[in-house]
Amino acid sequence: MAGKSFFIDTTRCTACRGCQTACKQWNQNPATKTTQRGTFQNPAELSTSTFKLVRFSDAGTPGEGPKWYFFPDQCRHCVYPPCKMAADKKVKGAVVLDVRTRAIIFNPRVKVSPADFKEIHRACPYNIPRYDEKTGGMAKCTMCIDRVSQGMLPACVKTCPTGAMNFGDRDAMLAMAASRLQAVKKDYKDASLVKPKDVRVIFLVKDDPRKYYRFAAGDSAKEATGAG
Ligand code: SF4
Ligand code: SF4
Repeated sequence: MAGKSFFIDTTRCTACRGCQTACKQWNQNPATKTTQRGTFQNPAELSTSTFKLVRFSDAGTPGEGPKWYFFPDQCRHCVYPPCKMAADKKVKGAVVLDVRTRAIIFNPRVKVSPADFKEIHRACPYNIPRYDEKTGGMAKCTMCIDRVSQGMLPACVKTCPTGAMNFGDRDAMLAMAASRLQAVKKDYKDASLVKPKDVRVIFLVKDDPRKYYRFAAGDSAKEATGAG
């Protein structure tokens, strides 16, 4: 019942993007053509062929030089998934729950209309669902359910060389996250775990999560109003 979870320790992330590349490779997603946009974040956004994206944010103050925040973004596999609640009202079976792992999966065989996708996207506090208008298919991180169901680690976790990406039974991940937070707090008093009770992808950040990415801790406006 407890299912699986990730623990992502951003204090150990060096932005090597090994997770991003491994995700593309395992899912056989095509490369995305990129351009110089004045940032190391590439490609610019998640898409139907990019399920994992290391976001770069420079939150430095003038005179003190750059201060980088790296955020390996992906679907949070929410404990009570708003995307599934929205989808169930519109296109039953488009978003499904894997009972054993509690992964939230977009069913590639069920197509949705642009209007229905808009509702499903609006429901997600983390700006995750992506849509192919040509095929009507939705896409995002699958929790590597094909690997995990065979006892393997998700590709992004398996490839991470620093220990930033972790995966396992939820109780073990919550314990690992709590222990690491205690250690990191000695150096970073504002360190926190981002909504650990709400999500199965638990991020440890050393500063305000919004400095990493606007939707790192969800869209507070949506959550406050229940919109979506
Ligand atoms: S769990 Fe799999 S699909 Fe999800 S981000 Fe990691 S590699 Fe990609
Ligand atoms: S992060 Fe968004 S897409 Fe992922 S389970 Fe939660 S609501 Fe659904």
